[in-house]
Amino acid sequence: MQDDISGVRLSGRHHAGGGPRYEVVEPATGRTIGHVAAGTGRDAARAVDVAAAALEGWRSTPAPRRGAVLRAIAGRLRTADGLAETVARETGKCLREASAELALAADYFDWYAGLAHTLTDQVLSVRPGLRHLVRTGPVGVAAVLTPWNFPVSIPARKIAPALAAGCAVVFKPSELSLLSSLAFAEICEAELPDGLVNTVAGDGPEITGVWLDDRRVRLLHFTGSTAVGRSIAKAAGPALTPVVMELGGRAPFIVLPDADLDDAADTLMVAKFRNNGASCIAANNVWVHEDVREEFLTRLAERVSRLVPGDPLDERTTLGPVRTREMADRLEGAVAALAAAGASVHQGDGPRRDGWYVAPTLVVDPAQDRPEWREEVFGPIALVRSFTDLKEPIADASATAHGLAGYVCTGDAAAGADLLARLDVGIAGVNVATPATPEIPFGGRGDSGIGYEGGLPGLLPFLAHQSIAAPRP
Ligand code: NAD
Repeated sequence: MQDDISGVRLSGRHHAGGGPRYEVVEPATGRTIGHVAAGTGRDAARAVDVAAAALEGWRSTPAPRRGAVLRAIAGRLRTADGLAETVARETGKCLREASAELALAADYFDWYAGLAHTLTDQVLSVRPGLRHLVRTGPVGVAAVLTPWNFPVSIPARKIAPALAAGCAVVFKPSELSLLSSLAFAEICEAELPDGLVNTVAGDGPEITGVWLDDRRVRLLHFTGSTAVGRSIAKAAGPALTPVVMELGGRAPFIVLPDADLDDAADTLMVAKFRNNGASCIAANNVWVHEDVREEFLTRLAERVSRLVPGDPLDERTTLGPVRTREMADRLEGAVAALAAAGASVHQGDGPRRDGWYVAPTLVVDPAQDRPEWREEVFGPIALVRSFTDLKEPIADASATAHGLAGYVCTGDAAAGADLLARLDVGIAGVNVATPATPEIPFGGRGDSGIGYEGGLPGLLPFLAHQSIAAPRP
């Protein structure tokens, strides 16, 4: 086994952290594959010092030059040797999904590199005798906190717009994906001037507390669970630190009777089982019209049976393990509880090796008042109910405070879009399982978040404007 990896990277250099020592356990085997020496609140404070010192030079770097650096980071992400394997090994997602994640991360850097070119000061003549100069610059130091399930693309979609805007970043990745996120940080550092991305692995409340107490941190940009996001947003209140929160989801997936049922089943397989079910926009509550229920379930069960659980690095694998033993226990417990409460269960291939495998599972007719139906599943288990009146799935979706994603499968795309417009969600797909791309805004409503990533809206929180009125010369 290697020496401990440093979980503190300031100004592109490793620092010995005096914080917790995290064991990196590979979910496919349950074996320890490394250790990370994490940092403390003191490292978090030093990270802000370094970022604040680097800010001025980066802010005054012409925006097109910043864009060129972002494009160079995108290039490195596309050719990074071994990073996809690290992501697959550490998170359990299949290697091709890990490669797709890196490509997506690169696309975020390219997209925000392009938007950097649009960041110019403006002179407006809007009042007689006056000239308004609107100066647009970075908010300052931005704190970025991320979850484990997309350890490269989620940091990328925060850090790319931050850098495009001219911000310096302090970054706390999840303790469950440190190898991937630290390798990503190193790629950014390789192209950036010193001090612009400073990474501190460590205890969430401790690191966040330091950053929220430091008035130089002008934005806290978080992705993770709703419970943690809520606690951070509350802690950000007294200092009025602005927050962007990308939180948990509970997406409805509605199959209408006019849908092509093969396409609908294929779409659901991606929307549900991609990333081993650990996606915030994963289909969570599947609703199929009673008229096509049996035909659809047959197609779905066939596809679930064809999934190949196994080593994420093996190219034949189509379903990897879940991230931790606790997650596997929770998911298996949920299936057992739903079955005991009367739902019927169809399972695909189960685990055939050590590690934290959960058999891909269809649970049909779970009771609507069960917590397993009401909450985010975040694993390879599809919960399916049928309906006769569209009011049922719409009422069910409206009864939750979550509002991240939604899906409909139908032969009438326009009617599908109309239906999705009735759901209070931020991102949705008609016969499409992966609606998010860097060019469009992505964000949840209600308990699913505050603000957006992606598109132009993803850049705006990182910008500060100063408007100066002066007599027109
Ligand atoms: P999590 O909330 O447990 O952790 C997220 C981050 O917060 C990690 O870096 C963690 O170390 C840190 N953290 C944990 N407790 C903290 C605390 N008390 N104070 C400060 N920081 C703390 O989430 P997770 O398990 O890593 O990720 C899964 C969740 O994230 C799911 O709910 C999923 O839906 C959500 N998610 C949302 C999106 C989105 O874009 N909306 C994307 C991916 C994941």
